[in-house]
Amino acid sequence: MTLPPRPRRFDRNLVVIGAGAAGLVAAYLAAALRARVTLVEAGPMGGECLNTGCVPSKALIGCARLAAASRRAAALGLAAPAPAPDFAAVMARVRAAIAAVAPHDSVERYTALGVEVRRGRARIVAPWCVDVDGQRLTTRAIVIAAGAEPLLPDLPGLAASGYVTSETVWQLASLPPRLAVIGGGPVGCELAQAFAQLGSRVTLVQRAARLLTREDAEVSALIAARLAADGVDVRLAQAPAAVVADGAGRALRLVQGDAVPFDALLVATGRRPRITGYGLEELGIGTTPTQGIATNPFLQTVHPGIFACGDVLGRAPFTHAAAHQAQSAVLGALFTPFWRARYDDSVMPAVTFTAPEVARVGLNEQAARAGAHAHEVTRFDMADLDRAIVDDATEGFVKVLTPPGRDRILGATVVGAHAGELIAEFALAMRHGIGLKRLLGTVHAYPTYAEAARLTAGAWRRAHASPAALRLLARFHAWRRGG
Ligand SMILES: Cc1cc2nc3c(=O)[nH]c(=O)nc-3n(C[C@H](O)[C@H](O)[C@H](O)COP(=O)(O)OP(=O)(O)OC[C@H]3O[C@@H](n4cnc5c(N)ncnc54)[C@H](O)[C@@H]3O)c2cc1C
Repeated sequence: MTLPPRPRRFDRNLVVIGAGAAGLVAAYLAAALRARVTLVEAGPMGGECLNTGCVPSKALIGCARLAAASRRAAALGLAAPAPAPDFAAVMARVRAAIAAVAPHDSVERYTALGVEVRRGRARIVAPWCVDVDGQRLTTRAIVIAAGAEPLLPDLPGLAASGYVTSETVWQLASLPPRLAVIGGGPVGCELAQAFAQLGSRVTLVQRAARLLTREDAEVSALIAARLAADGVDVRLAQAPAAVVADGAGRALRLVQGDAVPFDALLVATGRRPRITGYGLEELGIGTTPTQGIATNPFLQTVHPGIFACGDVLGRAPFTHAAAHQAQSAVLGALFTPFWRARYDDSVMPAVTFTAPEVARVGLNEQAARAGAHAHEVTRFDMADLDRAIVDDATEGFVKVLTPPGRDRILGATVVGAHAGELIAEFALAMRHGIGLKRLLGTVHAYPTYAEAARLTAGAWRRAHASPAALRLLARFHAWRRGG
């Protein structure tokens, strides 16, 4: 491939490709550091998180939770008629949530912040040149933040049958009476439960023997039981063989022989980084085993001026990870060879917004075992947390891993109401080397869910109290009693 000549001067310091979570943070930071930066976006501003990911899913889940809670109202002494969700109104609420957040990611906002925003499809023609719909932009560096897209299984009949993914499920006009979901990862579990709570008869088909395979087995079991309690027919260790249609309607035929009839089919079998069609192959930019862009620890590709961040890396597919990676990528892109920032994702929280929520940071038991990390586990059950008891939300637990005999936190898993909020305390503690003893020494307001962190630390403390010191104390008090 012949590259256009490297210019002596560049029109800008940085071109960022993609205005999703990663690209927006990259462009914002570059402008804040007074670089001349152009942000190129082919689709809607805000990318997946705003338009088809976090924002719509959490808005839908919010409505679904309310429907589920009102069904339980009678148990709390509030006799009320069963809710009759109006799906069109629920989807209008989802769109309203997107519209309310959209100004944060808008062209106007970023232009005001000093970013030049170009709408169009970018193609990298050289490490110093990006083509945007025929117009060539010269730049000292490039940050690729092109995101990921749904990964579709090779399933006979799928294309012909009609299906939705996390990108298109938001266009459903009416609540499907029967929804089949393929995939038991975070997206499959969150949406299966939400649709069930809104009134669909949901069947979730998962190839693996358990849901949420990155979590410990007991977490998977708890979520499977909870989904079942919400009416989801959870089919584990079952794989789809084909999508079939006849006069009776459409169905998902399983390898095991069963057929799952459906009115809508949601394919949630993972996402793959967008790495084709915009110049990476021509420039010899390689990929990782997870099909993400290959980089060094500074998120720099084989071309010293090209960096990557966000879902396109195929690493941690979260909005907060994308934003965190964007910081490293931009500092490298703007300041290499004078300064660059090593990307560190050792303390990266992950939350699945099922009910109860599942939140994790650092190691869980299966990761500790896989990595042969010596560890011990301290547990605290939500059933022992006063706030959870009064809220009738006692499902779940906190589990903290520490090195044997030490209070340094290797990782924490929280399952329960507001687990996504609770995990922040463990992430903070891990990031700043705060051990369980110092968590125990921190006053937490009563009655809160946050107290679960301190009570877990208390459980660790009790398990590590020195028997000799306790014997000595008992003798001291006996002496004080005059005995
Ligand atoms: C249903 C669902 C729920 C989710 N919920 C959560 C959650 O609760 N919390 C969380 O942390 N994460 C969640 N995620 C994941 C989160 O949405 C992503 O991790 C995050 O949006 C990734 O941001 P990104 O900037 O890397 O990619 P994207 O947001 O995909 O942005 C990439 C952008 O690049 C543009 N682009 C690509 N190629 C080009 C090109 N050649 N030229 C110009 N533009 C281009 C695309 O149009 C796109 O807008 C969820 C995902 C899904 C699917």
